[in-house]
Amino acid sequence: MDVRADYPLDNLNTLRLPARAQWYAEPASTEALVALLREPRWRGVPRTVLGGGSNLVLAGDISGLVIRPMMRGLRELPGGLLEVQAGEEWDSVVARSIEAGWQGLENLSLIPGSAGAAPVQNIGAYGVELCHHLAGLEAVSLQNGQIHHFTAEQCDFGYRESRFKSAEPGQWLITRLQLRLNRAPVLQLGYADLSERFAALPESGRNAAGLRQVICQLRREKLPDPAALPNAGSFFKNPVVEAAHWAALRERFPAIVGYPQADGRVKLAAGWLIEQAGWKGRRHGPLGMHERQALVLVNHGGASGATVLAFAEAVRESVQTMFQVQLEQEPVTLGSPGQALQARRSSPAGPPGAPGGDIITNA
Ligand SMILES: Cc1cc2nc3c(=O)[nH]c(=O)nc-3n(C[C@H](O)[C@H](O)[C@H](O)COP(=O)(O)OP(=O)(O)OC[C@H]3O[C@@H](n4cnc5c(N)ncnc54)[C@H](O)[C@@H]3O)c2cc1C
Repeated sequence: MDVRADYPLDNLNTLRLPARAQWYAEPASTEALVALLREPRWRGVPRTVLGGGSNLVLAGDISGLVIRPMMRGLRELPGGLLEVQAGEEWDSVVARSIEAGWQGLENLSLIPGSAGAAPVQNIGAYGVELCHHLAGLEAVSLQNGQIHHFTAEQCDFGYRESRFKSAEPGQWLITRLQLRLNRAPVLQLGYADLSERFAALPESGRNAAGLRQVICQLRREKLPDPAALPNAGSFFKNPVVEAAHWAALRERFPAIVGYPQADGRVKLAAGWLIEQAGWKGRRHGPLGMHERQALVLVNHGGASGATVLAFAEAVRESVQTMFQVQLEQEPVTLGSPGQALQARRSSPAGPPGAPGGDIITNA
């Protein structure tokens, strides 16, 4: 398979941050992936997975082998399961599943990125999370190329969390998902703006396809399109605080937004906290928090990974000072600042050096 050297990643991340991969490959099948991982020449070389780049801060160049899975296909399995290959675009999976008469994914419409990355942070929107519909998945060990099946329980899903993001980051490449969907409608309308718009649809349109349309409309109104204004969606998770902390905050800030959790704690709206701390629409050089959605960090052009991280730290500090709440970054940071690829023209493990973007192996 083709492996390219010194490959530019600038157009492969939605924040449009400049970075390069030391080596870069796009396996189009699990067999090709396993063969690549087991090639002696890549022994000991670090491996990093890249999807659609929509949940990333590229802090600098990535040394080692960057692998972007490109396996494609959707197929129905017995027992109401839909199998989806990792390289499929997530939103196209949602659209095609609805067209094929399946229900359940409509609330996850228009989330950018690949299907393979969807379990990594257990994507969620409008009251639905991927884990509500994931029966299991197949992943390949990046260390030894062994194929492993995980049940949904084994994925340790939580709010924007899974074993692939927290406990074992960078250890697995997810190759395919098995989704459990419904044939009968079970529409999730638990958000005011959603239910109002849905109710306004003609009766014949009040189905999964209609709900998808409403969600796409709402998201287009609320979120900046990364193609027009580079961003990585919500930059911070909604923090969860203890009940006593919540009570104290409510006393000081009566308008604070919070959602009680089953364990007695309260989830706060990070966007509200950031807005109150004065960051909504504020800009420093090329970076800012979006004027309509304070939770979205945007790159107006020319930012680097290091400046994104410094800017985010300033936002985090002011929220901490004002509310004593620690914000946690949602996108994954990859690459290292200042880590110019020393091996741009040479290799630690055998592949011959080559000028930027050239194919260096064609096994
Ligand atoms: C405008 C916008 C709106 C968004 N809205 C939402 C939203 O509503 N809800 C939500 O949850 N997220 C949202 N996101 C975040 C993002 O779309 C999701 O996290 C998405 O799943 C990331 O997919 P990706 O393919 O782009 O992954 P990448 O950004 O390429 O990678 C993210 C992480 O997953 C790893 N990874 C990628 N592919 C694989 C794989 N096949 N196997 C193992 N690891 C892998 C990477 O190594 C990295 O650690 C939004 C982003 C944007 C830009």
